[in-house]
Amino acid sequence: MACVDDGTPPTLSFLGGAGTVTGSKHLVTTARGRILLDCGLFQGLKSLRLRNWDRPPFDPAGLTSVVLSHAHLDHSGWLPVLVRKGFRGAIHCTSGTADLVGVVLRDAAKIQEEDAARANRHGYSKHRPALPLYTVEDVERTLDRLRPHPYGRAVDVEAGARVTFRRAAHILGSATVQLDLDEQRPVRLVFSGDLGRWHRPILRDPEFVPEADVLLVESTYGDRTHANGSEETLVRVIRDAYDHGGAVIVPAFAIGRTQELIWTLRKLEDDGRLPQVPVYIDSPMARSVTELYCEHPEDHDLDMATLMDERRCPLCCREYHVVRTTQESKALNRRPGPMVIIAGSGMATGGRVLHHLRHRLPDPRTTVLLPGFQAAGTRGRSLQEGAREVKIHGGWVPVRARIETLDGLSAHADQDEILRWLGGFTRPPAVTWLVHGEPAASAALALRIESELGWTVGVAEDGASVSLLVEPDAPARAGREADARLQRG
Ligand SMILES: [Zn+2]
Repeated sequence: MACVDDGTPPTLSFLGGAGTVTGSKHLVTTARGRILLDCGLFQGLKSLRLRNWDRPPFDPAGLTSVVLSHAHLDHSGWLPVLVRKGFRGAIHCTSGTADLVGVVLRDAAKIQEEDAARANRHGYSKHRPALPLYTVEDVERTLDRLRPHPYGRAVDVEAGARVTFRRAAHILGSATVQLDLDEQRPVRLVFSGDLGRWHRPILRDPEFVPEADVLLVESTYGDRTHANGSEETLVRVIRDAYDHGGAVIVPAFAIGRTQELIWTLRKLEDDGRLPQVPVYIDSPMARSVTELYCEHPEDHDLDMATLMDERRCPLCCREYHVVRTTQESKALNRRPGPMVIIAGSGMATGGRVLHHLRHRLPDPRTTVLLPGFQAAGTRGRSLQEGAREVKIHGGWVPVRARIETLDGLSAHADQDEILRWLGGFTRPPAVTWLVHGEPAASAALALRIESELGWTVGVAEDGASVSLLVEPDAPARAGREADARLQRG
Protein backbone atom coordinates (compact mmCIF):
# COMPACT_ATOMS: atom_id res chain seq x y z
CA MET A 1 0.00 0.00 0.00
CA ALA A 2 1.40 3.33 -1.04
CA CYS A 3 1.52 5.87 1.78
CA VAL A 4 2.03 8.97 -0.31
CA ASP A 5 -0.22 10.63 -2.83
CA ASP A 6 1.06 9.51 -6.22
CA GLY A 7 -1.59 11.44 -8.12
CA THR A 8 -3.76 8.44 -8.94
CA PRO A 9 -7.38 9.60 -9.11
CA PRO A 10 -9.59 8.04 -6.44
CA THR A 11 -12.12 5.44 -7.54
CA LEU A 12 -15.19 3.74 -6.25
CA SER A 13 -15.79 0.07 -7.09
CA PHE A 14 -19.10 -1.73 -6.68
CA LEU A 15 -18.27 -5.21 -5.40
CA GLY A 16 -21.65 -6.27 -4.07
CA GLY A 17 -25.07 -4.81 -3.44
CA ALA A 18 -25.20 -3.62 -7.06
CA GLY A 19 -28.12 -5.05 -9.05
CA THR A 20 -29.14 -6.89 -5.88
CA VAL A 21 -30.09 -6.08 -2.30
CA THR A 22 -27.45 -8.17 -0.55
CA GLY A 23 -23.65 -8.39 -0.33
CA SER A 24 -23.17 -4.62 0.02
CA LYS A 25 -19.47 -3.80 -0.56
CA HIS A 26 -18.14 -0.57 -2.06
CA LEU A 27 -14.40 -0.08 -2.29
CA VAL A 28 -12.89 3.40 -2.22
CA THR A 29 -9.36 3.37 -3.60
CA THR A 30 -7.23 6.47 -3.13
CA ALA A 31 -3.51 7.02 -3.55
CA ARG A 32 -3.13 6.60 0.20
CA GLY A 33 -5.48 3.84 1.16
CA ARG A 34 -8.29 1.47 0.45
CA ILE A 35 -11.48 1.91 2.40
CA LEU A 36 -14.32 -0.58 2.18
CA LEU A 37 -17.82 0.81 2.75
CA ASP A 38 -19.82 -2.07 4.24
CA CYS A 39 -18.84 -5.69 4.00
CA GLY A 40 -22.08 -7.57 3.50
CA LEU A 41 -23.04 -11.16 3.02
CA PHE A 42 -24.75 -12.25 -0.20
CA GLN A 43 -28.12 -13.81 0.61
CA GLY A 44 -31.06 -15.21 -1.34
CA LEU A 45 -30.46 -16.92 -4.69
CA LYS A 46 -27.95 -19.76 -4.58
CA SER A 47 -25.87 -18.15 -7.32
CA LEU A 48 -25.51 -15.13 -5.03
CA ARG A 49 -24.83 -17.11 -1.86
CA LEU A 50 -22.04 -18.97 -3.65
CA ARG A 51 -20.27 -15.62 -4.09
CA ASN A 52 -19.62 -15.56 -0.33
CA TRP A 53 -17.09 -18.33 -0.97
CA ASP A 54 -15.31 -16.52 -3.84
CA ARG A 55 -11.96 -14.83 -3.48
CA PRO A 56 -12.59 -11.09 -3.19
CA PRO A 57 -11.39 -8.93 -6.12
CA PHE A 58 -9.00 -7.11 -3.76
CA ASP A 59 -6.41 -8.14 -1.21
CA PRO A 60 -8.03 -8.02 2.27
CA ALA A 61 -4.60 -7.47 3.84
CA GLY A 62 -4.20 -4.37 1.64
CA LEU A 63 -7.41 -2.74 2.92
CA THR A 64 -6.68 0.13 5.31
CA SER A 65 -10.10 0.43 6.94
CA VAL A 66 -13.74 -0.54 6.81
CA VAL A 67 -16.62 1.85 7.42
CA LEU A 68 -19.87 0.18 8.39
CA SER A 69 -23.26 1.85 7.81
CA HIS A 70 -25.21 -0.56 10.01
CA ALA A 71 -25.27 -4.04 11.49
CA HIS A 72 -27.57 -5.94 9.12
CA LEU A 73 -25.89 -9.08 7.75
CA ASP A 74 -26.19 -7.94 4.13
CA HIS A 75 -23.94 -5.01 5.14
CA SER A 76 -21.74 -6.58 7.84
CA GLY A 77 -21.96 -10.34 7.47
CA TRP A 78 -18.80 -10.88 5.42
CA LEU A 79 -16.50 -9.09 7.90
CA PRO A 80 -15.32 -12.31 9.61
CA VAL A 81 -14.22 -13.72 6.24
CA LEU A 82 -12.38 -10.47 5.53
CA VAL A 83 -10.52 -10.72 8.85
CA ARG A 84 -9.74 -14.41 8.33
CA LYS A 85 -8.31 -13.51 4.92
CA GLY A 86 -5.90 -11.01 6.41
CA PHE A 87 -7.65 -7.68 7.05
CA ARG A 88 -5.90 -5.97 10.00
CA GLY A 89 -7.33 -2.44 9.94
CA ALA A 90 -10.06 -0.79 12.00
CA ILE A 91 -13.81 -1.15 11.42
CA HIS A 92 -15.49 2.23 12.03
CA CYS A 93 -19.17 2.48 12.95
CA THR A 94 -21.56 4.07 15.45
CA SER A 95 -21.85 2.90 19.02
CA GLY A 96 -25.24 1.20 18.43
CA THR A 97 -23.85 -0.62 15.39
CA ALA A 98 -20.78 -1.81 17.33
CA ASP A 99 -23.05 -3.41 19.95
CA LEU A 100 -25.48 -4.84 17.42
CA VAL A 101 -22.90 -6.26 15.05
CA GLY A 102 -21.53 -8.40 17.89
CA VAL A 103 -24.93 -10.00 18.39
CA VAL A 104 -25.56 -10.35 14.64
CA LEU A 105 -22.23 -11.91 13.68
CA ARG A 106 -22.11 -14.31 16.64
CA ASP A 107 -25.60 -15.47 15.73
CA ALA A 108 -24.68 -15.83 12.04
CA ALA A 109 -21.62 -17.92 12.87
CA LYS A 110 -23.63 -20.11 15.21
CA ILE A 111 -26.34 -20.72 12.58
CA GLN A 112 -23.71 -21.52 9.96
CA GLU A 113 -21.94 -23.94 12.31
CA GLU A 114 -25.28 -25.60 13.20
CA ASP A 115 -26.40 -25.81 9.55
CA ALA A 116 -23.09 -27.39 8.54
CA ALA A 117 -23.33 -29.89 11.41
CA ARG A 118 -26.94 -30.74 10.47
CA ALA A 119 -26.03 -31.16 6.80
CA ASN A 120 -23.20 -33.49 7.81
CA ARG A 121 -25.51 -35.50 10.09
CA HIS A 122 -28.19 -35.93 7.45
CA GLY A 123 -25.87 -35.96 4.43
CA TYR A 124 -27.92 -33.48 2.35
CA SER A 125 -25.01 -31.29 1.32
CA LYS A 126 -22.92 -31.96 -1.80
CA HIS A 127 -19.87 -30.96 0.22
CA ARG A 128 -18.28 -33.51 2.53
CA PRO A 129 -17.78 -32.34 5.08
CA ALA A 130 -20.05 -29.27 4.81
CA LEU A 131 -18.17 -26.32 6.34
CA PRO A 132 -19.47 -23.09 7.89
CA LEU A 133 -18.45 -19.90 6.05
CA TYR A 134 -16.97 -18.72 9.35
CA THR A 135 -16.92 -19.66 12.99
CA VAL A 136 -17.61 -17.90 16.29
CA GLU A 137 -13.83 -17.65 16.71
CA ASP A 138 -13.52 -15.70 13.43
CA VAL A 139 -16.24 -13.38 14.73
CA GLU A 140 -14.45 -12.66 18.02
CA ARG A 141 -11.31 -11.65 16.09
CA THR A 142 -13.49 -9.36 13.95
CA LEU A 143 -15.15 -7.64 16.91
CA ASP A 144 -11.71 -6.68 18.29
CA ARG A 145 -11.34 -4.39 15.26
CA LEU A 146 -14.53 -2.35 15.86
CA ARG A 147 -14.10 1.38 16.58
CA PRO A 148 -17.38 3.01 17.71
CA HIS A 149 -17.97 6.74 17.10
CA PRO A 150 -20.78 9.14 18.04
CA TYR A 151 -23.17 10.58 15.45
CA GLY A 152 -22.38 13.95 13.93
CA ARG A 153 -18.66 14.17 14.68
CA ALA A 154 -16.02 14.05 11.91
CA VAL A 155 -13.42 11.41 12.79
CA ASP A 156 -10.12 10.72 11.03
CA VAL A 157 -10.20 7.10 9.92
CA GLU A 158 -6.80 7.35 8.28
CA ALA A 159 -4.50 9.96 6.75
CA GLY A 160 -6.55 12.15 4.44
CA ALA A 161 -9.88 10.47 5.18
CA ARG A 162 -12.58 11.64 7.60
CA VAL A 163 -15.92 10.01 8.31
CA THR A 164 -19.09 11.57 9.71
CA PHE A 165 -22.02 9.36 10.69
CA ARG A 166 -25.58 10.74 10.72
CA ARG A 167 -28.77 9.00 11.81
CA ALA A 168 -30.40 6.91 9.06
CA ALA A 169 -33.37 5.71 11.19
CA HIS A 170 -33.23 2.27 9.59
CA ILE A 171 -32.25 0.18 12.64
CA LEU A 172 -30.46 0.90 15.92
CA GLY A 173 -27.11 2.54 15.20
CA SER A 174 -27.77 2.83 11.45
CA ALA A 175 -26.03 5.75 9.81
CA THR A 176 -25.39 7.49 6.56
CA VAL A 177 -21.67 7.81 5.89
CA GLN A 178 -20.00 11.02 4.79
CA LEU A 179 -16.43 10.29 3.68
CA ASP A 180 -14.24 13.36 3.13
CA LEU A 181 -11.09 12.62 1.16
CA ASP A 182 -8.14 14.99 0.78
CA GLU A 183 -7.25 14.24 -2.82
CA GLN A 184 -5.94 16.44 -5.65
CA ARG A 185 -8.99 18.42 -4.63
CA PRO A 186 -11.25 17.59 -1.68
CA VAL A 187 -13.85 14.94 -2.51
CA ARG A 188 -16.93 14.24 -0.46
CA LEU A 189 -18.55 10.84 -0.94
CA VAL A 190 -21.85 10.28 0.82
CA PHE A 191 -23.27 6.77 1.21
CA SER A 192 -26.88 6.42 2.31
CA GLY A 193 -26.39 2.93 3.75
CA ASP A 194 -29.96 1.70 4.21
CA LEU A 195 -32.32 4.61 4.69
CA GLY A 196 -35.06 4.44 7.27
CA ARG A 197 -38.28 6.38 7.59
CA TRP A 198 -39.87 9.37 9.24
CA HIS A 199 -42.39 9.20 12.09
CA ARG A 200 -41.74 5.56 12.93
CA PRO A 201 -41.74 4.26 16.48
CA ILE A 202 -38.62 3.97 18.65
CA LEU A 203 -35.91 5.58 16.48
CA ARG A 204 -35.28 9.23 15.72
CA ASP A 205 -35.97 10.43 12.16
CA PRO A 206 -33.37 10.29 9.36
CA GLU A 207 -30.98 13.27 9.30
CA PHE A 208 -30.38 15.21 6.11
CA VAL A 209 -26.92 15.55 4.59
CA PRO A 210 -26.28 18.96 3.02
CA GLU A 211 -23.61 18.23 0.40
CA ALA A 212 -21.96 15.48 -1.62
CA ASP A 213 -19.75 15.36 -4.70
CA VAL A 214 -20.53 11.71 -5.28
CA LEU A 215 -23.62 10.16 -3.76
CA LEU A 216 -24.35 6.47 -3.30
CA VAL A 217 -28.02 5.74 -2.56
CA GLU A 218 -29.85 2.53 -1.75
CA SER A 219 -32.90 1.68 -3.86
CA THR A 220 -34.48 -1.38 -2.21
CA TYR A 221 -37.95 0.17 -2.47
CA GLY A 222 -37.05 2.49 -5.34
CA ASP A 223 -40.13 1.46 -7.31
CA ARG A 224 -42.67 1.32 -4.49
CA THR A 225 -44.53 3.33 -1.92
CA HIS A 226 -45.35 1.66 1.36
CA ALA A 227 -48.94 0.83 2.12
CA ASN A 228 -50.14 2.07 5.45
CA GLY A 229 -52.38 -0.04 7.61
CA SER A 230 -50.00 -2.51 9.22
CA GLU A 231 -51.97 -2.01 12.45
CA GLU A 232 -55.23 -2.99 10.70
CA THR A 233 -53.62 -6.13 9.21
CA LEU A 234 -52.17 -7.04 12.58
CA VAL A 235 -55.52 -6.62 14.35
CA ARG A 236 -57.36 -8.65 11.66
CA VAL A 237 -54.84 -11.52 11.58
CA ILE A 238 -54.48 -11.82 15.34
CA ARG A 239 -58.23 -11.62 15.96
CA ASP A 240 -58.71 -14.37 13.37
CA ALA A 241 -56.05 -16.55 15.03
CA TYR A 242 -57.79 -15.90 18.36
CA ASP A 243 -61.16 -17.01 16.95
CA HIS A 244 -59.83 -20.16 15.24
CA GLY A 245 -57.10 -21.16 17.66
CA GLY A 246 -54.43 -20.71 14.98
CA ALA A 247 -50.81 -19.71 15.20
CA VAL A 248 -49.47 -16.56 13.59
CA ILE A 249 -45.87 -17.11 12.54
CA VAL A 250 -43.86 -13.98 11.87
CA PRO A 251 -40.48 -14.67 10.28
CA ALA A 252 -39.11 -11.40 11.58
CA PHE A 253 -35.68 -9.91 11.43
CA ALA A 254 -34.40 -9.88 15.00
CA ILE A 255 -33.34 -6.29 14.49
CA GLY A 256 -35.76 -3.47 13.92
CA ARG A 257 -38.88 -5.17 12.70
CA THR A 258 -39.20 -7.36 15.79
CA GLN A 259 -38.91 -4.34 18.10
CA GLU A 260 -41.33 -2.34 15.97
CA LEU A 261 -43.75 -5.26 15.95
CA ILE A 262 -43.55 -5.62 19.75
CA TRP A 263 -43.99 -1.85 20.11
CA THR A 264 -47.10 -1.98 17.89
CA LEU A 265 -48.58 -5.05 19.64
CA ARG A 266 -48.09 -3.34 23.03
CA LYS A 267 -49.69 -0.15 21.75
CA LEU A 268 -52.68 -2.04 20.28
CA GLU A 269 -53.06 -3.87 23.61
CA ASP A 270 -52.83 -0.59 25.53
CA ASP A 271 -55.51 0.83 23.20
CA GLY A 272 -57.74 -2.23 23.79
CA ARG A 273 -57.74 -3.21 20.12
CA LEU A 274 -56.28 -6.72 20.54
CA PRO A 275 -57.42 -9.71 22.57
CA GLN A 276 -54.76 -11.08 24.88
CA VAL A 277 -52.79 -13.64 22.87
CA PRO A 278 -49.50 -15.14 24.03
CA VAL A 279 -46.55 -13.78 22.08
CA TYR A 280 -43.43 -15.95 21.86
CA ILE A 281 -40.16 -14.31 20.94
CA ASP A 282 -38.35 -17.37 19.66
CA SER A 283 -34.99 -15.87 18.95
CA PRO A 284 -32.22 -15.43 21.49
CA MET A 285 -30.88 -12.78 19.14
CA ALA A 286 -34.15 -10.81 19.15
CA ARG A 287 -34.07 -10.81 22.96
CA SER A 288 -30.48 -9.50 23.08
CA VAL A 289 -31.21 -6.93 20.38
CA THR A 290 -34.34 -5.70 22.18
CA GLU A 291 -32.20 -5.09 25.27
CA LEU A 292 -29.70 -3.14 23.16
CA TYR A 293 -32.53 -1.02 21.73
CA CYS A 294 -33.29 0.04 25.29
CA GLU A 295 -29.66 0.78 26.08
CA HIS A 296 -28.96 3.38 23.37
CA PRO A 297 -30.80 6.61 24.27
CA GLU A 298 -28.92 8.50 21.52
CA ASP A 299 -31.15 6.65 19.03
CA HIS A 300 -34.50 7.05 20.87
CA ASP A 301 -37.28 9.30 19.59
CA LEU A 302 -39.41 11.30 22.01
CA ASP A 303 -42.12 8.64 22.58
CA MET A 304 -39.57 5.95 23.30
CA ALA A 305 -37.60 8.27 25.60
CA THR A 306 -40.79 9.25 27.46
CA LEU A 307 -41.90 5.64 27.96
CA MET A 308 -38.37 4.66 29.01
CA ASP A 309 -38.58 7.35 31.70
CA GLU A 310 -41.94 6.08 32.91
CA ARG A 311 -41.23 2.39 33.14
CA ARG A 312 -38.69 -0.17 32.05
CA CYS A 313 -38.16 -0.73 28.32
CA PRO A 314 -41.58 -0.43 26.61
CA LEU A 315 -40.57 -3.18 24.17
CA CYS A 316 -42.70 -5.98 25.53
CA CYS A 317 -46.38 -6.91 25.57
CA ARG A 318 -48.83 -8.32 28.11
CA GLU A 319 -48.27 -12.04 27.63
CA TYR A 320 -44.70 -11.97 26.50
CA HIS A 321 -42.58 -15.12 26.50
CA VAL A 322 -38.95 -15.32 25.57
CA VAL A 323 -38.06 -18.76 24.21
CA ARG A 324 -34.50 -19.46 25.24
CA THR A 325 -33.45 -22.96 24.24
CA THR A 326 -33.98 -25.05 21.11
CA GLN A 327 -35.88 -27.56 23.29
CA GLU A 328 -38.30 -24.84 24.43
CA SER A 329 -38.67 -23.77 20.82
CA LYS A 330 -39.51 -27.29 19.66
CA ALA A 331 -41.93 -27.72 22.58
CA LEU A 332 -44.00 -24.89 21.02
CA ASN A 333 -44.92 -27.37 18.25
CA ARG A 334 -47.10 -29.20 20.77
CA ARG A 335 -48.79 -26.03 21.99
CA PRO A 336 -52.18 -25.24 20.47
CA GLY A 337 -53.06 -21.72 19.28
CA PRO A 338 -53.96 -18.98 19.48
CA MET A 339 -50.50 -17.56 19.68
CA VAL A 340 -48.00 -15.39 17.90
CA ILE A 341 -44.53 -16.76 17.24
CA ILE A 342 -41.92 -14.24 16.22
CA ALA A 343 -38.81 -16.08 15.05
CA GLY A 344 -35.83 -15.41 12.82
CA SER A 345 -34.87 -15.23 10.08
CA GLY A 346 -36.86 -12.52 8.37
CA MET A 347 -36.96 -14.09 4.92
CA ALA A 348 -37.18 -17.65 6.29
CA THR A 349 -33.69 -18.43 5.03
CA GLY A 350 -32.56 -20.05 8.28
CA GLY A 351 -32.93 -20.03 12.05
CA ARG A 352 -35.71 -21.32 14.29
CA VAL A 353 -38.58 -20.12 12.13
CA LEU A 354 -37.85 -23.05 9.81
CA HIS A 355 -39.01 -25.74 12.20
CA HIS A 356 -42.15 -23.73 13.03
CA LEU A 357 -42.90 -23.43 9.32
CA ARG A 358 -42.19 -27.12 8.72
CA HIS A 359 -44.59 -27.99 11.52
CA ARG A 360 -47.37 -25.45 10.87
CA LEU A 361 -47.41 -24.66 7.12
CA PRO A 362 -49.60 -27.75 6.43
CA ASP A 363 -52.21 -26.46 8.95
CA PRO A 364 -54.86 -24.16 7.35
CA ARG A 365 -55.42 -22.40 10.71
CA THR A 366 -51.87 -21.03 10.53
CA THR A 367 -51.12 -17.56 9.20
CA VAL A 368 -47.62 -16.66 8.07
CA LEU A 369 -47.20 -12.93 8.40
CA LEU A 370 -44.29 -11.86 6.21
CA PRO A 371 -42.76 -8.60 7.39
CA GLY A 372 -42.48 -6.77 4.08
CA PHE A 373 -39.85 -7.14 1.39
CA GLN A 374 -38.67 -10.69 0.65
CA ALA A 375 -35.62 -10.99 -1.62
CA ALA A 376 -35.68 -13.18 -4.73
CA GLY A 377 -34.68 -16.77 -4.02
CA THR A 378 -35.71 -16.79 -0.36
CA ARG A 379 -38.42 -19.06 1.09
CA GLY A 380 -40.21 -15.88 2.16
CA ARG A 381 -40.45 -14.78 -1.49
CA SER A 382 -41.68 -18.26 -2.56
CA LEU A 383 -44.43 -18.09 0.07
CA GLN A 384 -45.30 -14.53 -0.92
CA GLU A 385 -45.60 -15.67 -4.56
CA GLY A 386 -48.03 -18.45 -3.58
CA ALA A 387 -45.79 -21.55 -3.62
CA ARG A 388 -47.82 -24.70 -2.89
CA GLU A 389 -44.82 -26.33 -1.22
CA VAL A 390 -41.45 -25.18 0.06
CA LYS A 391 -38.25 -27.07 0.78
CA ILE A 392 -37.15 -27.03 4.42
CA HIS A 393 -34.20 -29.00 5.83
CA GLY A 394 -33.98 -31.09 2.68
CA GLY A 395 -37.70 -32.09 2.55
CA TRP A 396 -40.78 -30.63 0.80
CA VAL A 397 -43.51 -29.17 3.03
CA PRO A 398 -47.04 -28.50 1.67
CA VAL A 399 -48.33 -24.94 2.19
CA ARG A 400 -51.95 -24.82 3.43
CA ALA A 401 -51.43 -21.84 5.74
CA ARG A 402 -52.58 -18.36 4.82
CA ILE A 403 -49.81 -16.05 3.73
CA GLU A 404 -50.08 -12.35 4.52
CA THR A 405 -47.66 -9.48 4.11
CA LEU A 406 -47.27 -6.76 6.70
CA ASP A 407 -45.98 -3.95 4.51
CA GLY A 408 -46.18 -0.99 6.83
CA LEU A 409 -43.42 -2.31 9.08
CA SER A 410 -40.65 -1.90 6.56
CA ALA A 411 -37.43 -0.44 7.91
CA HIS A 412 -36.57 0.92 4.43
CA ALA A 413 -37.53 4.28 3.01
CA ASP A 414 -39.87 3.96 0.03
CA GLN A 415 -39.55 5.96 -3.21
CA ASP A 416 -41.17 9.10 -1.74
CA GLU A 417 -39.08 8.89 1.42
CA ILE A 418 -35.82 8.46 -0.52
CA LEU A 419 -36.77 11.56 -2.55
CA ARG A 420 -37.50 13.40 0.69
CA TRP A 421 -34.01 12.56 1.98
CA LEU A 422 -32.44 13.63 -1.34
CA GLY A 423 -34.32 16.90 -0.95
CA GLY A 424 -32.06 17.70 2.00
CA PHE A 425 -29.05 18.30 -0.29
CA THR A 426 -28.44 21.98 -0.88
CA ARG A 427 -26.85 21.40 -4.29
CA PRO A 428 -27.01 18.43 -6.70
CA PRO A 429 -24.15 15.94 -6.32
CA ALA A 430 -21.96 15.76 -9.44
CA VAL A 431 -23.14 12.19 -9.81
CA THR A 432 -25.50 9.90 -7.92
CA TRP A 433 -25.09 6.13 -8.09
CA LEU A 434 -27.94 3.82 -7.14
CA VAL A 435 -27.05 0.63 -5.30
CA HIS A 436 -28.78 -1.99 -3.18
CA GLY A 437 -31.80 -2.58 -5.40
CA GLU A 438 -33.15 -5.17 -7.79
CA PRO A 439 -32.82 -3.78 -11.35
CA ALA A 440 -36.45 -2.66 -11.75
CA ALA A 441 -36.40 -0.81 -8.42
CA SER A 442 -33.13 1.02 -9.21
CA ALA A 443 -34.30 1.92 -12.74
CA ALA A 444 -37.58 3.38 -11.47
CA LEU A 445 -35.80 5.46 -8.84
CA ALA A 446 -33.20 6.69 -11.35
CA LEU A 447 -35.98 7.87 -13.64
CA ARG A 448 -37.72 9.75 -10.84
CA ILE A 449 -34.51 11.42 -9.60
CA GLU A 450 -33.65 12.46 -13.13
CA SER A 451 -37.07 13.81 -13.98
CA GLU A 452 -37.88 15.50 -10.65
CA LEU A 453 -34.48 16.70 -9.47
CA GLY A 454 -32.64 16.88 -12.79
CA TRP A 455 -29.60 15.17 -11.24
CA THR A 456 -27.06 13.05 -13.08
CA VAL A 457 -27.83 9.56 -11.89
CA GLY A 458 -26.65 6.07 -12.81
CA VAL A 459 -27.40 2.55 -11.64
CA ALA A 460 -24.23 0.96 -10.26
CA GLU A 461 -23.10 -2.08 -12.21
CA ASP A 462 -21.77 -5.03 -10.31
CA GLY A 463 -17.96 -5.10 -10.55
CA ALA A 464 -17.68 -1.64 -12.15
CA SER A 465 -15.30 1.09 -10.98
CA VAL A 466 -16.03 4.80 -11.36
CA SER A 467 -13.96 7.89 -10.72
CA LEU A 468 -14.56 9.95 -7.60
CA LEU A 469 -13.11 13.05 -9.25
CA VAL A 470 -16.23 13.93 -11.19
CA GLU A 471 -16.64 17.34 -12.72
CA PRO A 472 -19.95 18.87 -11.73
CA ASP A 473 -22.18 18.26 -14.75
CA ALA A 474 -22.60 21.95 -15.52
CA PRO A 475 -22.60 21.47 -19.32
CA ALA A 476 -25.18 18.69 -19.18
CA ARG A 477 -27.43 20.70 -16.91
CA ALA A 478 -27.00 23.85 -18.93
CA GLY A 479 -27.89 21.79 -22.01
CA ARG A 480 -31.07 20.52 -20.41
CA GLU A 481 -32.06 24.03 -19.33
CA ALA A 482 -31.44 25.31 -22.85
CA ASP A 483 -33.63 22.51 -24.24
CA ALA A 484 -36.35 23.39 -21.76
CA ARG A 485 -36.13 27.09 -22.76
CA LEU A 486 -36.36 26.14 -26.42
CA GLN A 487 -39.41 23.99 -25.78
CA ARG A 488 -41.06 26.76 -23.77
CA GLY A 489 -40.15 29.26 -26.42
ZN1 LIG B 1 -30.36 -2.85 6.46
